[in-house]
Amino acid sequence: MTAGTVVIVGAGQAGGQVAHSLRRLGHAGPLILLGAEPHPPHERPPLSKAVLLGEAEPASTHLLTPAALADLQVDFRPDTTVTALNRTAQTVALASGGRLAYDRVVLATGCRPRPLRVPGCCRPGVHMLRTIGDSLALGRTLTDGARTVIIGGGWIGLEVAAAARKRGASVTVVERADRLCMRAAPPALSDYLHDLHTRHGVDLRLDAAVSAIRCGDAEAGGAALSVVLGDGIALPADLVVVGIGAVANDDLAAAAGLDCADGIITDAAGRTEDPAVFACGDVAVYPHPAWGGLPVRLESWANAREQAIACAHALLGQPVPAPEPPWFWSDQHGVNIQIVGRPGQGAPVHRAGDGPDRFSLFWLTDDRLTAAIAVNQPMDVKIAKRLIAADTPVDAAVLADAGANLRGLLKRVAA
Ligand code: FAD
Ligand code: NAP
Repeated sequence: MTAGTVVIVGAGQAGGQVAHSLRRLGHAGPLILLGAEPHPPHERPPLSKAVLLGEAEPASTHLLTPAALADLQVDFRPDTTVTALNRTAQTVALASGGRLAYDRVVLATGCRPRPLRVPGCCRPGVHMLRTIGDSLALGRTLTDGARTVIIGGGWIGLEVAAAARKRGASVTVVERADRLCMRAAPPALSDYLHDLHTRHGVDLRLDAAVSAIRCGDAEAGGAALSVVLGDGIALPADLVVVGIGAVANDDLAAAAGLDCADGIITDAAGRTEDPAVFACGDVAVYPHPAWGGLPVRLESWANAREQAIACAHALLGQPVPAPEPPWFWSDQHGVNIQIVGRPGQGAPVHRAGDGPDRFSLFWLTDDRLTAAIAVNQPMDVKIAKRLIAADTPVDAAVLADAGANLRGLLKRVAA
């Protein structure tokens, strides 16, 4: 099947991956990649880690260099924002005034940071983190002794807290919920993260709401800002970081009449209700086996990659690879945390390692492994991924036995 001219809107991770996969899978027609940012398609995980700390160059995040894009005959247009999608005419409108015709369009527009709506939220010194520019700007301010208040105890908040402590800043995290990373982490992981950050000198304030960000005054000890909590306590801050979640960039699709519900509704291969329109990555909501087939919007590197690859197959009418169990990671205070599957709220099987920062947790339903969390145990999570995907019986006693070799459990899994 020929897909004709494919226009990809959004040159982030998913958009770049769709372009790459389409060419690798044999798409011979024109391929136009439009990105609002000035950079080639890039990956974001280092923006809250190595790039933020100045330990890696921004260019190291590039998924495809300009030379690789040219090699793939991708017509890449940076600094190009799409303002409207006309499904009848099959065109996209550009902020610059022109229009581009498509046979198929892929919406890979990702997310934007959720804004904090309190007085003073836009003062100088208040940062959000999504783009390379955000990371560089925030990195410049994370200095030794800088009083840093982070609003939101999710992944952005905790990774920035770890980076700030590494730079010698003093850090307070203000989280609205009664535990950290509540959306994606089960209580056992929240408890571990609480302990890890406390050990590294982070002041954690849970169940705490921010009511305003004021200019610093004499009471703020000379700090530029003062973060006021619901109970009236004011935290002096040289800088503030807001990481309170992400909002799907589904406005183009919604305005074009496509079904959206906190994201663009697709199937697992990115097909929307319009056969000429596809969507993938952070912006797409689709039924996932780990959620019992219910729709979910996943915000992770692995999801952006896998859904983009599936989308490229679907676009070309080729068989779509089966979805992998969801997987993501975080690095904080030198600790690598990986989560595969969908951890439940129930008690996991605990597999001890040597020390507080080395262990794994496993969740089973009957005798099937459904999820695992590995802290500094990357091999455990690799094995868990294969066991979950194979849906094979697993002996919980072996998982719990720190002396047992987990590779033995793979014997029943077909190679
Ligand atoms: P994006 O990468 O956001 O790309 C969307 C692109 O579309 C953007 O470049 C945007 O400018 C562009 N765009 C939007 N609207 C338009 C328009 N109208 N016209 C043209 N262009 C448009 N995941 C993990 O699994 N592990 C991690 O450790 C991890 N760390 C992260 C750290 C940070 C700081 C962030 C922000 C995310 C992190 N993630 C991590 C999540 C992961 O990076 C995202 O899930 C992934 O980037 C999603 O890819 P995407 O292409 O869907 O969206
Ligand atoms: P997040 O993980 O959803 O965490 C946001 C946290 O802020 C939630 O715990 C939320 O609580 C809390 N919150 C919301 N409003 C608040 C308020 N007014 N005051 C205090 N706390 C508040 O989102 P994020 O950390 O901002 O991350 C944004 C995006 O970057 C996501 O797509 C994320 O996946 C991605 N990211 C991923 C990684 C990783 O996977 N390692 C690393 C960095 C970034 P409620 O749930 O109660 O709203």
